[in-house]
Amino acid sequence: MKQCVKCNGALSATEVREEVRVAGATFAGLVRARRCDGCGEVYIAAEDAMRFDLRVARELGIRGAATGEAFKFMRKALAMRAADLAGLLGVAAETVSRWERGERSVDRAALTVVGALVVDKLEGRATTMKLLKAQQAPQAVEGLQLAVGQK
Ligand SMILES: [Zn+2]
Repeated sequence: MKQCVKCNGALSATEVREEVRVAGATFAGLVRARRCDGCGEVYIAAEDAMRFDLRVARELGIRGAATGEAFKFMRKALAMRAADLAGLLGVAAETVSRWERGERSVDRAALTVVGALVVDKLEGRATTMKLLKAQQAPQAVEGLQLAVGQK
């Protein structure tokens, strides 16, 4: 989008303050946006909005937020379906639903893994995802001679 859809005015780069409430806390931060020089309409790209949610999710993870609401927010920030995440964690989809509805305490290891996925995504890595996928399709290592790197 190069022009304002409302008035065809030119768009200038700006930042807007976004705020979200999750698990009883308020998270606020600046998000990259563009503002119409003509009418003042603000546009936020989907990617930038997603990145803000990931930053909130990272805070939840770092602070050890352990509620179902926090877990759900983190999963959604990753744009993952509950069933897909359940498959990666090796639990039933219903278990994830129960965690998110607060019917059962969220597993601490699951929270840690989801937090690691969030940090990876923000930092452009896929380390945790690769390890989870390796667990979904484990390979026998007994009897193998494997070269390992120097680092
Ligand atoms: Zn405009």
